[in-house]
Amino acid sequence: MINPQKNDPKIRILSCTDEKIVFTLREVDVSVVNSLRRILLGEIPSMAIEMVEIINNTSVLPDPFIAHRLGLIPLTSNYIQDFNFPQDCNCTSTCDNCCVDLQLSRKAETEQEIGVYSADLISTNPRVTPVRDPETPRGILLLKLSAGQQISLKATAKKGIGRHHAKFSPVSCAVFSYEPDVRLSQAIIDDMPANEKEAFVTSCPKQVFSSDPMFSVIKIHDQDHWNCMFCQECVNWAEENHREGLVIVKHREPNNFKFTVESTGSIPAAMIVKLAIQQMMKKLDLCRQATDNIGNQLTVLGSLDGEYLESDL
Ligand code: SF4
Ligand SMILES: [Zn+2]
Repeated sequence: MINPQKNDPKIRILSCTDEKIVFTLREVDVSVVNSLRRILLGEIPSMAIEMVEIINNTSVLPDPFIAHRLGLIPLTSNYIQDFNFPQDCNCTSTCDNCCVDLQLSRKAETEQEIGVYSADLISTNPRVTPVRDPETPRGILLLKLSAGQQISLKATAKKGIGRHHAKFSPVSCAVFSYEPDVRLSQAIIDDMPANEKEAFVTSCPKQVFSSDPMFSVIKIHDQDHWNCMFCQECVNWAEENHREGLVIVKHREPNNFKFTVESTGSIPAAMIVKLAIQQMMKKLDLCRQATDNIGNQLTVLGSLDGEYLESDL
């Protein structure tokens, strides 16, 4: 249930790169956080290949297989706001405001087998190109061509949202978890020999606990508790080693969350979150307008004569 007292949401970014953003949300109802997650997954637009015209394909892969792979290639969509959705565009079929054309043409000229990668797709718009990672500059492997085989095709990318097809979602992961509350019993720790303390510290797969080199003290550093994933490994370790009560793991507050968003590379992660919050505000405005309208109509109905209402409704 939404708590009217909790009306002062606070956001704090823990880490942020183009690929991934981690932030905390405090004083927010779980329904709001879940709405944000659903908007992130289904309503942030990006460009993806929607139509493919195969001109020549002598590879071993059938045309529909290649077309499906092309659709799943992330395309840079930093300027997605400049494009129209195809259904909203003024053109009759395709135009530069709603579509971007890409071409691919490769042939294995020698006896050696060659790979065809997403970076081989040549775009007519430099703002919409296959996403490239510095570690894999050729991009995603689409198919392989043996001696003499070739592939030639034209593709058209359009703007869409993940709710209509997952290929349009610029988000590869959007998850949230409650804030963990991890507490240690100092009395039990003081009673443990160093080798037991070491075993306990290493029982946590997320390095929530830290210690000095001699394992004389065990601590949870500021912010490290956010790494906890409620796996209960530490609690199980304590029970198996007859140290019940050594550690307690539970949810801290019902209104505090950690949110993690990962991008496919088509839009920077921070921009995805910003677009999602803007989308949420638009939806809330629509909701407010609708409830205002209903409220106005109820006021009019309430001012009418009761007898008239009964006979008319
Ligand atoms: S519940 Fe799992 S992740 Fe959390 S502190 Fe214990 S062992 Fe570490
Ligand atoms: Zn158009």
